Amino acid sequence: MHITASQLYNYIVCPHRVWRDVYGPQDEKIQKPNPFVQMLWDKGVQHEKNVVEGMEVLNLSTGSREERFEKTRQAMKDGVDWIYQGVLIHDNLLGIPDLLKKMPDGHYIPVDVKSGMGLEGVDEETEEGGKPKKHYAAQLCLYVEALQNLGFAEENKAKVIDIHGNEIDYNLDDMMGKRTPITWWEFYQQIKYEVQKLLENREQNKPAMAGVCKLCPWYNSCKAWAKEEHDLTNIFYLGRSKRDKINEDLGIERVEDIINVDLEEIKERKEKNKQFLSGVGEKTLAKIMVRADILANDKGPVVYDNITFPEVTYELFFDIEDDPTQDFVYLHGVYERNNETGKEQFLDFTAKECTPKGEKEAWAGFWDYIHSLPKNDCAVYYYSPHEKTVYKKMQKLYPDVVSKEEVDDFYDSPNVIDLYQIVLKSTDWPLSSYGIKAIAVYLGFSWRDKDPSGANSIEWYNNYLKTNDKKILQRILDYNEDDCKATMVVKDGIEKLANSIRTKL
Ligand code: SF4
Repeated sequence: MHITASQLYNYIVCPHRVWRDVYGPQDEKIQKPNPFVQMLWDKGVQHEKNVVEGMEVLNLSTGSREERFEKTRQAMKDGVDWIYQGVLIHDNLLGIPDLLKKMPDGHYIPVDVKSGMGLEGVDEETEEGGKPKKHYAAQLCLYVEALQNLGFAEENKAKVIDIHGNEIDYNLDDMMGKRTPITWWEFYQQIKYEVQKLLENREQNKPAMAGVCKLCPWYNSCKAWAKEEHDLTNIFYLGRSKRDKINEDLGIERVEDIINVDLEEIKERKEKNKQFLSGVGEKTLAKIMVRADILANDKGPVVYDNITFPEVTYELFFDIEDDPTQDFVYLHGVYERNNETGKEQFLDFTAKECTPKGEKEAWAGFWDYIHSLPKNDCAVYYYSPHEKTVYKKMQKLYPDVVSKEEVDDFYDSPNVIDLYQIVLKSTDWPLSSYGIKAIAVYLGFSWRDKDPSGANSIEWYNNYLKTNDKKILQRILDYNEDDCKATMVVKDGIEKLANSIRTKL
């Protein structure tokens, strides 16, 4: 079986996916492509087309794989400058780089066209720094190795053409970073080896429930497995690496079995052996034990601190919808509760066109609304640091709408509250996820949409832009309104819990 670039990508996203794709229960795999994943794919294809359109390339995108491989090899022998969708096959490696570029010395390098940023961690202020993305680098290494084995490349070098059309060098002999003191090439060799073992079924690994699972075709299958096995990744914030370490070092696999481990004994063993449960500190383990107890014994939510919220007339529950694929904020939604009149209403500030003008007008509308409210008699609730990050970015784009100081003051205000931080620091729930949807549903709330998710909203908005269909826009608004209401339900739920504890004391 060939190792392909997409298997390396899948392994980096989830090490279990490679095995499950080949040996998993195929009847449990979701066959219908996820609309959001499909939209990303379509956008990638379109971007690639746009980039290639302006170039003189030999197009080898059609024909059988073997025919294309022969034509690719011949084209490189003939010294063609640019080859589009050539096929590289050598031993168990199979790669289809978007482009192959002839270098001045006659050798070739692979060039992948990506519809994202070419590097990660670029400083937003200076637009400097940043390092290669793991999954881009691993895929490029596979193409380079196949090229070298076929005799058309010498150096471990490749390029990415990013969303802005910039060519970015990927020097695959560079070190990955301080924390991972190996080169990108060594990293590739390691994961290639792991992928090979999984593909040959010489090794198996387990699912681990995480955020990425929601977009995976195996979501239902792996979720059912995790539930049935009482797997430790059902515990909120316990990911694959900690789960595997606990499995290995403590021999504990089920949620209920971690509740009563002896922390003192573990502390002693850790002192004697630094490798024992490395990466799982005692505090983390104590937290895991508490969460396991609440989850396994369905104990109900717990509030640890004396939480109080501002007593004000206006309470705003606020949520934005943005499309990271085009760095665009299309909706600022607010569910307003007036505690004096008892009235509730939903307000939306929506960009009706995907242009800077549309985005700016919607944002300005939001701020006009905020300015219309009595500053000291108003509290704003949101869920996750995302809103704050996005607003700081928007302020730089549209400084004439609102000043930096005002955005900073807004989020620094004690009356502007990120409920997720409170949930994280001061509460626990009998749930595997502490996301707004999981907690609000636990508290009895339900979304009107049959398939509510931020990813779906982005797909709907892209459809709305194409069709101008008002029904799609209404679906987006209803979804956002429900997200805002869910924030209110969570705030009220936490308050009720905190009050009940105060009453007991
Ligand atoms: S559902 Fe999650 S654990 Fe299962 S294969 Fe997909 S990403 Fe991996």
